[in-house]
Amino acid sequence: MYVGGTLISSVEFHGNMSLVIFMSQCPLACRYCHNVELLEDKTQKSFEEVKSEIDNAADFIDAVVLSGGEPLMQLDALIELFTYIKSIGLKTKLDTSGIYPDKIEKLLEMGLLDFVSLDVKAPFEKYRKVTGANVGANVKKSMKLINNDSNVHLEIRTTYVPTLHTKKDIFNLVNDIEGDIYTLQQFRNKNVLDPALEKVDVPNPHDLRKLAEYVKPVFEGVVKVKTAEFGEQIIE
Ligand code: SF4
Repeated sequence: MYVGGTLISSVEFHGNMSLVIFMSQCPLACRYCHNVELLEDKTQKSFEEVKSEIDNAADFIDAVVLSGGEPLMQLDALIELFTYIKSIGLKTKLDTSGIYPDKIEKLLEMGLLDFVSLDVKAPFEKYRKVTGANVGANVKKSMKLINNDSNVHLEIRTTYVPTLHTKKDIFNLVNDIEGDIYTLQQFRNKNVLDPALEKVDVPNPHDLRKLAEYVKPVFEGVVKVKTAEFGEQIIE
């Protein structure tokens, strides 16, 4: 399987320590992507190698997060890993762009997911501008499938880029989604896929918070902002 790296995190699975495994490669080309090196990474690890990293961490983690890149490009590897993670009593989380609803449906049917972070990168009808691909309908289908499974906790995340999204875009996007948590993330302008975005100012935490307050009335779950300066903050 293609694996670009791992890290231990206290923030990727709310309230839990987790091992995050970054699965390489992704078919999208989000202009703000800062995982550029992962997109083409060809490093391979065997299941046994990854299993041993999980085993070494198992005593001090509660969960394993499969992140990317786009982990669903490697569905067979995901099934093998999530099945093992569940078998040793750890919780599972998938980070995904949601462009493969059929693969998400398969993981849901197998009962392999406890938590999903789904990136909704733009209003569903405006996906091409941000990701280079017109895949909003797939993402919407994935969101509905996950919401239909009451055993799975769903966080929806958007990275707000001032030159790619208007505030009205974010409002319309949030008006069209359902989930347990909505997190508005601060764009970072270093090491991004589209060099033009390196000249775009990072939104300041105060403005991002005001934007989250603006959209909060149209989302039924918890609304958060995530910034480099203050980490995650819940909007009350
Ligand atoms: S930000 Fe976009 S291009 Fe980058 S890994 Fe995520 S889905 Fe792929």
